Amino acid sequence: LINDVDPGTATIPLPQSDGDERRWSDTSAYARKKILQSWIQLPNGNWELGKILSTSGEESVISLPEGKVIKVISESLVPANPDILDGVHDLMQLSYLNEPSVLYNLNYRYNQDMIYTKAGPVLVAVNPFKEVPLYGNRYIEAYRKRSNESPHVYAIADTAIREMIRDEVNQSIIISGESGAGKTETAKIAMQYLAALGGGSGIEYEILKTNPILEAFGNAKTLRNDNSSRFGKLIEIHFSDSGKISGAQVQTFLLEKSRVVQCAEGERSYHIFYQLCAGASSALREKLNLASAHEYKYLGQSNCYSINGVDDAERFHTVKEALDIVHVSKEDQESVFAMLAAVLWLGNVSFTVIDNENHVEPVADESLATVAKLIGCNINDLTLTLSKRNMRVRNDTIVQKLTLPQAIDARDALAKSIYSCLFDWLVEQINKSLAVGKRRTGRSISILDIYGFESFDKNSFEQFCINYANERLQQHFNRHLFKLEQEEYIQDGIDWTRVDFEDNQDCLSLFEKKPLGLLSLLDEESTFPNGTDMTLANKLKEHLHSNSCFRGDKGKLFTVVHYAGEVTYETTGFLEKNRDLLHLDSIHLLSSCSCLLPQAFASSMLIQSEKPVAGPLYKAGGADSQRLSVATKFKGQLFQLMQRLGNTTPHFIRCIKPNNVQSPGLYEQGLVLQQLRCCGVLEVVRISRSGFPTRMSHQKFSRRYGFLLVENIADKDPLGVSVAILHQFNILPEMYQVGYTKLFFRTGQIGVLEDTRNRT
Ligand code: ATP
Ligand code: MG
Repeated sequence: LINDVDPGTATIPLPQSDGDERRWSDTSAYARKKILQSWIQLPNGNWELGKILSTSGEESVISLPEGKVIKVISESLVPANPDILDGVHDLMQLSYLNEPSVLYNLNYRYNQDMIYTKAGPVLVAVNPFKEVPLYGNRYIEAYRKRSNESPHVYAIADTAIREMIRDEVNQSIIISGESGAGKTETAKIAMQYLAALGGGSGIEYEILKTNPILEAFGNAKTLRNDNSSRFGKLIEIHFSDSGKISGAQVQTFLLEKSRVVQCAEGERSYHIFYQLCAGASSALREKLNLASAHEYKYLGQSNCYSINGVDDAERFHTVKEALDIVHVSKEDQESVFAMLAAVLWLGNVSFTVIDNENHVEPVADESLATVAKLIGCNINDLTLTLSKRNMRVRNDTIVQKLTLPQAIDARDALAKSIYSCLFDWLVEQINKSLAVGKRRTGRSISILDIYGFESFDKNSFEQFCINYANERLQQHFNRHLFKLEQEEYIQDGIDWTRVDFEDNQDCLSLFEKKPLGLLSLLDEESTFPNGTDMTLANKLKEHLHSNSCFRGDKGKLFTVVHYAGEVTYETTGFLEKNRDLLHLDSIHLLSSCSCLLPQAFASSMLIQSEKPVAGPLYKAGGADSQRLSVATKFKGQLFQLMQRLGNTTPHFIRCIKPNNVQSPGLYEQGLVLQQLRCCGVLEVVRISRSGFPTRMSHQKFSRRYGFLLVENIADKDPLGVSVAILHQFNILPEMYQVGYTKLFFRTGQIGVLEDTRNRT
């Protein structure tokens, strides 16, 4: 029996000549004869489809669509697929897998509103920037019944549910892509499907309502996206044994706090501020002494108050309703709005010089009085906190008066802390509400919507953290799709020709190595009271210049060679953002407040700063605060995240942004290509095509399908039963391999067995 399925005979040559042509020169003579069409790269970088009229020696004559005939060097041609393959569902089906063919295929589908395409196991989603008729109950039903086979987020969610039940393993849907590529929308579409299939208890409704809340408080208009998430999010949806949703848990990552006090021209702060200003009832207005958005300095600095097509007042009501649904009491809601108003009024607090050493004090005006009233503190205490700082030097406390820049820093730090504590508090309330009925025994599906790789003209601490996170996720992706895959084949003794992939371990080590990695050096410099952006830059250059993923540049600049390309960072603000200091005076001010929320914020900050924590601690500005640095906390969160994801079966969705102007119907080849390269789409297709993505142990396979056998199997072991099944169903020898412990199948082979099983 074993001879029958000897791996040697069950193997066909890997599709070398069929899959890997990138250049004409790689194409076999036989294949060349067959190729009628070819891709020609125009001087602007775009690819154009041409007909090959003749080829003689080194040169080919090509006719282009608009009737032009040109002569090109045959070497530069890239083979195009026959028309019959136009717009295939899965890039795996392309005869010629090359960049222009992939670009063309996605574009062809995009033009017909088919925004989803499979790239082997990965779903590629191209943002339509308009409503496409692909969603809603009719579609959900079709994917549930599996009567619609077009690639879709619904299909991914459906597979996740089925595999969760079938394999009894938790699942994850990992969504990545640039800002504006459609991650958050995609996550919501997946949630919609899970809610529809797993709903019934009502909790699914609550889960969906977390979206408008988190978007109001954590999203903002940026130059790239009118609804850009400024935090990362993992939502873990729990299912009971019967496959019904029983609860959920939200975890957030690294909210961009700086936006509360500062944002660039044409961008906005968090949506909720504008919503509150536009939508609050007159009673609430009066209670909070609320003015219009134009009157607040924090909102005015970027010269942008509204978003096309968005009614902030209406959104405010949606958010209030959503807060009701996740059981945030009316009283608590009012406190939340009071905190928001306090932040806005803090931004209007101004300072006046009080002595000839340029020390300042806040002006005792409406702003200051309103802040004190809203957070429930004594106005004198607020004045003191914004004009003096208690410093502990050895065992003495000295009082330092603040200069204008220091006072502004103290004010802004207080505003940022109130806002980020408020955000965390809301997430906590949401989790309390969603935890109803959550049982530990069940399984879960997690959806990760996290900022994609960012590379701007100027890149700061935020990009540094975001890109570090992306390196981690990329490694997870690589490991899963490439490494584990190959290791598994080798371990199980099946025939396999290695496919190389880019490993990014070197870049991750550059970040994580101790003591001489980017994060450690950053933390170390953050502990030095005299550390500056410049000393940090010099320190990095001094210790890392020989690392191949690092390059020191002029002044405060340094470059990291990321998997997705080089990014040059400027250290300006790195130390300050990493320390994220809120002076103890401010924490004490909050804890002295008569309102409950500021008190809660203060105690959560005190817990953070006083709990003995592992890892680098730092003392800055005369030891008045001890906390984990932002980068170290983030690194810890990422490790935890990777651990959680590591225990799940992942499903990857790569979102692609087809243009930078958020408009429908515009597909820019160069931009799409750069994103496809960043996420390794072609490599994934290549490896999946030549591999055996479906696998099952002999035991499981024989148990699952053995009952379908017509012959008597009483005396057979699992391997024997498995082989009998393969024979009975006429599965072709080139479509599977038998390993020591598992059977490996090419894509689509299990389908007929599953169908028969489900019918029986
Ligand atoms: P960021 O990283 O900035 O948060 P993102 O990847 O989460 O970006 P989204 O906010 O999901 O991007 O999408 C940006 C915009 O693109 C949406 O506001 C919406 O207008 C449009 N969009 C995305 N996906 C779809 C879709 N499937 N159908 C219709 N419009 C979409
Ligand atoms: Mg988003």
